Amino acid sequence: MLNIVLFGAPGAGKGTQSDLLVAKYGLTHVSTGDLLRKEIADQTELGKRIKSIMDSGSLVSDDIVVEMIDKAIANDHAGILFDGFPRNVAQAETLEKLLEKHGRKLTCMISLDVPREELIRRMLERAKVSGRSDDNEETIKNRLKEYEAKTLPVAAYYEGKGLHVKVNGFGDINDISASIIAEIEKRK
Ligand code: AMP
Repeated sequence: MLNIVLFGAPGAGKGTQSDLLVAKYGLTHVSTGDLLRKEIADQTELGKRIKSIMDSGSLVSDDIVVEMIDKAIANDHAGILFDGFPRNVAQAETLEKLLEKHGRKLTCMISLDVPREELIRRMLERAKVSGRSDDNEETIKNRLKEYEAKTLPVAAYYEGKGLHVKVNGFGDINDISASIIAEIEKRK
């Protein structure tokens, strides 16, 4: 069973590539960002607590996302594509334990490599149509700062475990998808 982490900065194309991979391999797409946005849209107690944090571009607390991931793994039978998780090393360590608890292993972590200027360009472009309250210039800066300070060390964590696969995320969407698929096929 495939269990894959799709990793990259905000704007790296994780959402787009997730859709293509989910269609190809029949995986369950687990995006913590989407799950959190749903809580806000549904105006749940949790949604009310996290709205201002997400609007500022900061990360929400580990407990919240870890609980979501635990449930998602427990409910899944197809294999999972993790999108937007883990976002820090503590979450990566927890993911390993959760997968083990459910008798699974991570296949690999695919990291989409995109130059910083391109990330900002894409996010500002997306801001025009996404309706996402965190797609504005101020928040984008903070999201990149959070990524560099907290999320980037996750790549080194998986590198140490021999699970980090870097893919060029700049160029044609279908070419990027083909590169990702080629890497997954090597590790299936
Ligand atoms: P995303 O859709 O992945 O860009 O996530 C949007 C926002 O949701 C982030 O800026 C964080 O506030 C929050 N978020 C998503 N995933 C996580 C996570 N794994 N840990 C903490 N916060 C997260």
